[in-house]
Amino acid sequence: MVFKLACGDVMPGCTAHFENTDRDQLLGAVAAHAAADHGITTITPDVLAAVEGKISREPVGA
Ligand SMILES: [Zn+2]
Repeated sequence: MVFKLACGDVMPGCTAHFENTDRDQLLGAVAAHAAADHGITTITPDVLAAVEGKISREPVGA
């Protein structure tokens, strides 16, 4: 299983895409990107919920 997130689904206009077979690592990468590119240094429960709601799961190799 690979977890995927298009940042643009949460932050309209952003073209960054993330994918990782480890969900926690995916969220870590997204958090680092949000801080670096969006100035979001505090991931609030609302932001986390929005991000988690946009994560898709696909079989590896799809
Ligand atoms: Zn972004």
